[in-house]
Amino acid sequence: MDLGIKDRVALVAAASKGIGFAAARELAKEGARVFLCSRDEKRASEAAQKLHDETGAAVAGIGADVTDNESMERFVNLARERAGRIDILVNNAGGPPSTTFADTDLEMFRKAFELNALSAIRLAKMVLPGMRAQKWGRIVNITSVSVKQPIDGLLLSNTVRAGLTGWAKTVSSEVAVDNVTVNNVAPGYTLTERQEELATARAAATGKPKEEMIGLWAAQVPMRRLASPEEIGAAVAFLASERASYITGVTLQVDGGWVRSLL
Ligand code: NAD
Repeated sequence: MDLGIKDRVALVAAASKGIGFAAARELAKEGARVFLCSRDEKRASEAAQKLHDETGAAVAGIGADVTDNESMERFVNLARERAGRIDILVNNAGGPPSTTFADTDLEMFRKAFELNALSAIRLAKMVLPGMRAQKWGRIVNITSVSVKQPIDGLLLSNTVRAGLTGWAKTVSSEVAVDNVTVNNVAPGYTLTERQEELATARAAATGKPKEEMIGLWAAQVPMRRLASPEEIGAAVAFLASERASYITGVTLQVDGGWVRSLL
């Protein structure tokens, strides 16, 4: 299926590796012009170069922190200066730490809100007026299955991402008339480098093999395996595409069936 986004201009936040990188790759494969960021300038440019070499698409990478207003302005301005407009925004960031209520102070809530909600809201503030004026725009937020089925121990993710989902649904109604859609992709267990590191750390702590740790996660999933980052990236690219033109305000879980709710 041709997604109909050749030459569309996409910003992908937090994309030097993992799910963000995979989303950028799917967009580049479709011929979109991609601007990606991550905190480390070198890693961001290396990721951009890799995507360009692989897909032939124009890809630029800059060092910019999604929690920092000034660096986000730089990121958005770079895309505007070089490409003249922004059509697609993919919001992503690293995840907040795993905690329980007893060991979470207010500062940790504030930081998680900055990282996983305000970062997306800020970028949307910067790009939405342009998308509305040009009568075409796509915003896709990468959240988590925790918005549909909270995960024990992931208090901050469960709390903050639910807030972002409420924001996204509300804004999707406000901007729909201008042909701008706002949706969320909620990944389940996905075998990114970070997830591999987590498995390695747990394996070391328990003295069990890493594969057994990954197996424990896989056992919770009806498909009995973790997602590949590419499988999440493909859903992001679809929601960011022309083909998804009548889909807005939804959260699409990509989780091998992990969420047990009907909706
Ligand atoms: P990851 O750690 O592999 O990659 C995160 C990317 O974000 C990296 O490129 C990193 O450099 C960048 N980054 C982190 N903080 C940043 C910041 N402040 N500013 C700019 N860039 C920043 O993570 P991942 O596994 O790809 O997950 C991506 C998101 O999806 C996270 O929010 C995670 O919690 C969520 N998620 C992941 C899974 C999973 O199983 N991997 C499941 C559900 C939700």
